[in-house]
Amino acid sequence: MRLDKLLANMGFGSRKEVKQLLKQKAVTVDGEVVKDSSMHVNPESQIVMVYGERVEYTEFIYLMMNKPPGVISATEDLYDKTVIDLLDPLSQHFKPFPVGRLDKDTEGLLLITNDGQLAHNLLSPKKHVPKIYYAKINGTVTEEDIKAFKQGVELDDGYLTKPGELKILKSGPQSEIELTIQEGKFHQVKRMFEAVNKKVTYLKRLSMGTLSLDEHLKLGEYRELTSEELSALK
Ligand code: URA
Repeated sequence: MRLDKLLANMGFGSRKEVKQLLKQKAVTVDGEVVKDSSMHVNPESQIVMVYGERVEYTEFIYLMMNKPPGVISATEDLYDKTVIDLLDPLSQHFKPFPVGRLDKDTEGLLLITNDGQLAHNLLSPKKHVPKIYYAKINGTVTEEDIKAFKQGVELDDGYLTKPGELKILKSGPQSEIELTIQEGKFHQVKRMFEAVNKKVTYLKRLSMGTLSLDEHLKLGEYRELTSEELSALK
């Protein structure tokens, strides 16, 4: 890979800005100052440094975000802010996208990556990756609902859902629940509750497969996955 491309990819500015860095003798490859931006380097076997700091080249980026309400989980939107708009320029440089969708008003765990293969594996209906949601419900959630969700409920379009595991955390006219589902139909959680005549008033995703939301992340904050989180997910 060309040195200027590598450095630009790693967030050291545009190719023009990278040229400036090289001119300033800020860049070394295997200990030698390099001024030629077109030099080819192998980021795996050669040591590239900028101002004495090693540049570790990575192709993929894996971020966990606590999605805030009011932003769209897409890469671009005509009217609203997207989750990608919340990322710093270096992260955006990797051209990441959200893995699956959360509604505009839904909060919680969102994986953002540019690893298409991982995204495909997590979203494939064949893989049955469980997703856990916490929700507040207008209406009293009952044992009947637990049974109904276990058997599968019929959504407004006639689709019969796969079994979902419903846990009642607080029962009453304003209930609180945790629901585990293995599919990801459009508005699925909201529509499952509509099927039993109740309304979701707040929804937050807690986990996706082995990946759980880091409760230290405030709404809108994100961090890289740890190597443990990543290897468990793959
Ligand atoms: N189910 C929903 O209804 N909305 C979401 O955002 C995610 C799951």
